[in-house]
Amino acid sequence: MEKLSRRLATLSPSATVAMNQKTKDLQAQGIDIINLSVGEPDFNTPDHVKAAGKKAIDENYSFYTPVPGYPELRQAIVRKFKRENNLDYKPEEIVVSNGAKHCIANTIMALVDAGDEVIVPAPYWVSYADLVKLADGTNVIVDTTIENDFKMTAAQLEKAITPKTKALILCSPSNPTGSVYSYDEMKALAEVLKKHENVFIIADEIYEHINFVGKHVSMASFEYLKDRVITVNGVSKAYAMTGWRIGYMGAPLWLTKACNNLQSQFTTGASSIAQRASIAALDSDPSVVEEMKKAFHRRRDLVVNMVKQIPGVKLSIPEGAFYIFPDISSYFGKSDGKTTIKNSNDFSLFLLSEAFIATVPGSAFGNDKCIRISYATSDEKLVKALNQFREAVKKLK
Ligand code: PMP
Ligand code: GLU
Repeated sequence: MEKLSRRLATLSPSATVAMNQKTKDLQAQGIDIINLSVGEPDFNTPDHVKAAGKKAIDENYSFYTPVPGYPELRQAIVRKFKRENNLDYKPEEIVVSNGAKHCIANTIMALVDAGDEVIVPAPYWVSYADLVKLADGTNVIVDTTIENDFKMTAAQLEKAITPKTKALILCSPSNPTGSVYSYDEMKALAEVLKKHENVFIIADEIYEHINFVGKHVSMASFEYLKDRVITVNGVSKAYAMTGWRIGYMGAPLWLTKACNNLQSQFTTGASSIAQRASIAALDSDPSVVEEMKKAFHRRRDLVVNMVKQIPGVKLSIPEGAFYIFPDISSYFGKSDGKTTIKNSNDFSLFLLSEAFIATVPGSAFGNDKCIRISYATSDEKLVKALNQFREAVKKLK
């Protein structure tokens, strides 16, 4: 007899993780699929970080870790926030978790009660909406447009806030669109939030370093908001460490205490080895991150130029992260003689079977006109994949 809790019965699996798995299964069967589905750097973790992990094993870092993270790691995070974001956090205002995803989950569980509203600009990263649902909160989705580079305006934010609003989740640079809020755009949102003192801001800054247009703007840098901002970041994207599973947050003490309580019941402290390696990562020479950013920038240009040549595809030029989010809705209603494309899911499946490339349908991110393509892979594979894309859509009439 299957009898899931009501809570889990309605929870969908992460579409990005599921698509990645499906692709790996097809590849294991010998099918030559180019995987542009998952968002993870294709680089290896830098050598000095790997060395720190190996050293930690040899030095017997094999015992339970403090729930909020080793003091040395929290100190390194405090230094990082000061150096790179000019943010002052104390070590006790930092919690280290099993990835930034875990920090976001902890925060939502700690903040959101049944009936609370959480504003989520769409397109949004898959997990936000499901985590809010898991906490019995209500997602208030604010649709943005490709014409505005998928960015929420201050007027849209103002309109979405109600007396029930508990939090806003903002991601810049954004997954899935690659959009980056400029200082002025961020300030305009901050000015709205200033007036609404009961609204918390979960600032997902995991793509901070993959920004091709200028300096990253942290929401917490607006001093009048700082005690309502939860700054989420991690080592996955900046240091090519997705599998090490280390994320961290800076937040007011009452909230970090609550997250520690939750974490002490759910998972205890994050992996000892990965934490030691993360200290080395966060104290790295900036050139480590700069090199990867340069490669992503070059690939962004490559991908944008190639996608522009594909008829019927509309694109906003992403300024950060490693995704493009093209609008492919002009193909809706067209058919290759076998399938008629009705939505982003059909289009993504068409690309999988006819172009042998894995993408993620926009519906998973709250926009059914688009698909997400991750360009965190080699230039050669990108060129091959996009040539196959261009050839495949010729079959759609
Ligand atoms: N936020 C966003 C927007 C992401 O794309 C990711 C990547 N999965 C995460 C958070 C979580 O990153 P991680 O758990 O690997 O630190
Ligand atoms: N952030 C990545 C993505 O969106 C990793 C997968 C996930 O954690 O959902 O593809």
